[in-house]
Amino acid sequence: MPSSIIVGAGIAGIAAALRLRAAGMSVTVFEANDYPGGKLHAFELGGYRFDAGPSLFTMPELVTELFGLFGEQSDEFFQYHRKESVCNYFWEDGIRFTVNANREVFAREAAARFGVEAASVLAYLKNSQRKYDLTAPLFLEKSLHKIGTYLSMDTLKAIAQISEMDIGTSLHSLNEAAIGEPHLVQLFNRYATYNGSSPYRTPGIMSMIPHLELHLGAYFPKGGMHSITTSLYQLALRQGIQFHFGQKVEQILVKNRQAIGVQTTDQQHFAEFVVSNMDIFSTYKKLLPGQPHPARTLRQERSSSAVIFYWGIRAQFPELDLHNVLFSGDYRQEFTHLFDHKTLFNDPTVYLNITSKEAPGDAPPGCENWFVMINAPGDYGQNWPAVVAQTRHDILAKVNRLLGTDLAPLIEVEDVLTPPLIELRTSSYRGALYGAASNSSFAAFLRHPNFSSKIKHLYCCGGSVHPGGGIPLCLLSAKITAGLIISAS
Ligand SMILES: Cc1cc2nc3c(=O)[nH]c(=O)nc-3n(C[C@H](O)[C@H](O)[C@H](O)COP(=O)(O)OP(=O)(O)OC[C@H]3O[C@@H](n4cnc5c(N)ncnc54)[C@H](O)[C@@H]3O)c2cc1C
Repeated sequence: MPSSIIVGAGIAGIAAALRLRAAGMSVTVFEANDYPGGKLHAFELGGYRFDAGPSLFTMPELVTELFGLFGEQSDEFFQYHRKESVCNYFWEDGIRFTVNANREVFAREAAARFGVEAASVLAYLKNSQRKYDLTAPLFLEKSLHKIGTYLSMDTLKAIAQISEMDIGTSLHSLNEAAIGEPHLVQLFNRYATYNGSSPYRTPGIMSMIPHLELHLGAYFPKGGMHSITTSLYQLALRQGIQFHFGQKVEQILVKNRQAIGVQTTDQQHFAEFVVSNMDIFSTYKKLLPGQPHPARTLRQERSSSAVIFYWGIRAQFPELDLHNVLFSGDYRQEFTHLFDHKTLFNDPTVYLNITSKEAPGDAPPGCENWFVMINAPGDYGQNWPAVVAQTRHDILAKVNRLLGTDLAPLIEVEDVLTPPLIELRTSSYRGALYGAASNSSFAAFLRHPNFSSKIKHLYCCGGSVHPGGGIPLCLLSAKITAGLIISAS
């Protein structure tokens, strides 16, 4: 039975471990933290439960199919439900709008609210689906770096229609041309942030992202986002996968240009295959110091990071739902600050996630658990204590303005997450949420492959390699990676 070692028990590391185990391999996972899940973690504070990182859950079938690999019924261990109202949006001019998951209803309500043609909104959403259907089989489900990918019918079909993919225009320009109305343009621009990019730079092909949320659906897992981690980790234990927590891998062992194992703090461990779930930049810089590095790939611009306040709020806000966005009054300035100046704008777009709306037990009676996130530049040595203090002030001012409240006295517990802390806890270089940004037309092709072309038997998976960050893409990355290993073994 071939053996494999996985560096990191992030969601992609766990998923890759499961797929290799299902193919009959013995699998050992070394994780630096004393818990599984990496960014997909949770904690409790003063009677409130908080998901620490991801909050939006799409494509649940990528989780449930992992149970099916072992003949298990996923709904015995992992349950979730679909949200009919996807997100509540608030603007500085007093306009409020709730996005409905049904695209016909969404188009009708958007037409009534913003005075646009329902048909043009619907056409935009159908175009989003068309882009997704054409490109997903090529960009999301296969390695972009294997010749076989380019010989399939799906790929030839996608390449033949490349001119309709809007690769040469920015998402913002596309949205202005297709929709025009400023509130809706901002709403559709926001999807660039789902992979940590700027709508003014990311290509128009990213207009496929709304299809995931508005057609395939936004879901809430029972027990919160963290139950994705815990249910898959428990599945992995049932299947005999070995986990070693608090075991930081110091080096990937390479002999005759082939990965043969890893060095942890106190010991060497050997296996036929090594998979790094660690951020690809850190994998090369920290674990492969003497080996050739793919300089161009590692120079890629990083995706945005985030500053998050976890607030236990001693009140309830009926106008808020699970997902809420309070938009900046000047979106272009916000992204110029993030990507050009590497600073935070004083009127940030504020995302509020409140899981106690779905799971009342996540907060004490009469209270709400607020996960308050704003996009932030990566860590370039900014004065983070000062940034956090200013940001807290700016967020409170925005919430007070848009919700007509005085929030500060209602905050009874508080924690904060910053880009340096994200890097410290996950090794994600500069605290990037999604690895590299997609701020150029061909960024997808510049992401690191799911394997090393220089070191045999070395593979990688997770948010910093193909096809990218976000839970669904991490799960797809694990699927591609495991598929390559299985066919090589
Ligand atoms: C604040 C925040 C909000 C987000 N929101 C969303 C969202 O709403 N929806 C969504 O889909 N995605 C979201 N994301 C992105 C999503 O969390 C990531 O894409 C995904 O969790 C990354 O998983 P991963 O397995 O690639 O890496 P990670 O979760 O980073 O896991 C890597 C693991 O490797 C371990 N490791 C690193 N180096 C070593 C070493 N040398 N030895 C041993 N172990 C090591 C780390 O400790 C970590 O556990 C968000 C991320 C953050 C931080």
